[in-house]
Amino acid sequence: MCNEEKGADRRLFPMFYPAGLRNIFKYEQKCLERVYMRRVVWYAGKKYYRIVPFLVIGYMLVIFAAALAGITQAVSPTAMGRNLIVIDPGHGGYDPGAITSQGIYEKDINLAISKKVKTKLAESGMKAVLTREDDRDYAGGGSSRKTKKQTDLDYRISLVEGLNPEVLVSIHVNASAGGNNSGAEAFYQEGSDQGKALAECVQVELRKIPSMTKRVAKSGEFYLTRNTKVAAIIVELGYLSNPVDRRKLLQNSYQDQLANAIAAGIINYLAGLK
Ligand SMILES: [Zn+2]
Repeated sequence: MCNEEKGADRRLFPMFYPAGLRNIFKYEQKCLERVYMRRVVWYAGKKYYRIVPFLVIGYMLVIFAAALAGITQAVSPTAMGRNLIVIDPGHGGYDPGAITSQGIYEKDINLAISKKVKTKLAESGMKAVLTREDDRDYAGGGSSRKTKKQTDLDYRISLVEGLNPEVLVSIHVNASAGGNNSGAEAFYQEGSDQGKALAECVQVELRKIPSMTKRVAKSGEFYLTRNTKVAAIIVELGYLSNPVDRRKLLQNSYQDQLANAIAAGIINYLAGLK
């Protein structure tokens, strides 16, 4: 019985029993016993634990686990989008968006507030990426204004698709002919349930800003929201054509309030997905 076990053991781990060691042990010991997963060799009445095979197996397991972790990280671009938020500061570069006779450009307000939203989200442990960090466009060498605009938006859409975020929020400032309209409102793509939910979460928070008009989230047709698969909204933060809105939109404290509301809306939307 014991001899059979010893023979089986030597076949199993021949590499850990070099000839010299075998000669030293000579296998005078009558029995080989198993203790849990370890094997024990008795020699001259003393107990010897053969731990080398298990050290090697343990080492191989560590290497395997590390390799597996590396592979997981390498294939994570799609997983990267989890809880990632893309903020799109509307317009930029050649395209100022709405402008005023005082030389105020929508693109500058969009960028300033987008950066604040990113900061607010980061403070809550959320990762946000901006489609532009400075005054630029992605129109390339387009000839007509329409072609340039489409090229710019297509590039932003490709950026979003590549990042595969949880949400896309495009920040804008409105203008109207009469100058009477005021207040912030969120728009979602008609037919998009996730866009609607996100817009409503953001609108609820925007309405909490003191003296804010009590608008509701609305559906609309926008090239950006229509051509992205993720939950996407356009937020118009007020009217440059309205003197009161215009003054507030330039105030650092009001921009902070808007950014806080957008960040809170996004976080509440994401919390609802869990
Ligand atoms: Zn705009």
